[in-house]
Amino acid sequence: MQYTPAADRYNSMTYNRCGKSGLQLPAVSLGLWHNFGSVDNFENGRSIIHNAFDKGITHFDLANNYGPLPGSAEENFGRVLKQDFTGHLRDELIISTKAGYTMWPGPYGDWGSRKYLISSLDQSLRRMQLEYVDIFYSHRPDPATPIEETMGALHSIVQQGKALYVGLSNYTAEQTKVAVEVLKSLGTPCLIHQPKYSMFERWIEGGLLDVLEANGVGCIPFSPLAQGLLTDRYLNGIPAGSRASKPTGFLQEGEVTPERIEKVKKLNVLAQQRGQSLAQMALAWILKDKRITTVLIGASSVAQLDNNLDTLKNTAFTKEELDAIEAILK
Ligand code: NDP
Repeated sequence: MQYTPAADRYNSMTYNRCGKSGLQLPAVSLGLWHNFGSVDNFENGRSIIHNAFDKGITHFDLANNYGPLPGSAEENFGRVLKQDFTGHLRDELIISTKAGYTMWPGPYGDWGSRKYLISSLDQSLRRMQLEYVDIFYSHRPDPATPIEETMGALHSIVQQGKALYVGLSNYTAEQTKVAVEVLKSLGTPCLIHQPKYSMFERWIEGGLLDVLEANGVGCIPFSPLAQGLLTDRYLNGIPAGSRASKPTGFLQEGEVTPERIEKVKKLNVLAQQRGQSLAQMALAWILKDKRITTVLIGASSVAQLDNNLDTLKNTAFTKEELDAIEAILK
């Protein structure tokens, strides 16, 4: 299969400025945490990536450990880039990766030391067959490493030309404040923060979003569909092939509780009244806050991706709709 990107790929996507930086990101970005590993169907992943780029998704998010097996999502993504994104197409892509969770045995394959971050990014670049990534993240805060060392490693990585921008993931509001200051003092501003955020996971409303706004840092929430819970996927049980059904899926069967599905069913009715799928309403609900740069979705099929992209046709909510959502979530 020969891939030629769609000529009209920039016609329907919205691009939002990332904090106070010069970088714009698509309102919907694609993550490769699930569905792109060595246990998954390569051609399916490849067609999702093609379809995403054809619809204006320029941002693809990875991490050293995505797979399974760890590292295999980067390898597969590198394969797709090599065979399909030739010529100057690399310059139309924003590719991110991260280090912070366990990647290899011993004391240097985890957390936030300079040793781990720099050698992990070198490995990621080799797996993806890239000279640089656009964004490199500290994947989680490390309580045992001085913040100056972790941020210093991010700064060095930019100085070495291995990443253009840096970001933080899973840092609390307080930790973010400190990390952002240290990065500022080094002369490498923090571009973006990647927190977990959805209708079911609201912690960033309690301070993080204010810190990001005050410092001109963008925000890219992950698992905006609560790994598929905030869609029609689990309305009638756990279907075969879904994330909750898979031994390699991070969504546990036990998280699909009757109480949750009760709420999901009510949200689904509301979404239908808005003329949207529940996935679309859940994504629109996140994008309504102007401090959010882009929602970072996952997808196991081209159809899911297309469904999610149609979110952008209606991201406005009436006060009554927002109140109704809060009443259901309460
Ligand atoms: P989502 O909450 O978007 O969940 C994606 C899953 O939801 C899909 O795999 C699919 O499940 C289901 N789904 C998606 N769209 C639809 C639809 N329209 N209709 C029905 N079901 C749908 O995000 P993820 O949890 O996948 O996370 C997204 C990205 O965020 C990751 O790929 C990664 O890049 C990043 N991330 C970052 C983390 C961090 O610590 N920084 C941690 C976790 C994720 P199914 O497979 O069952 O079809």
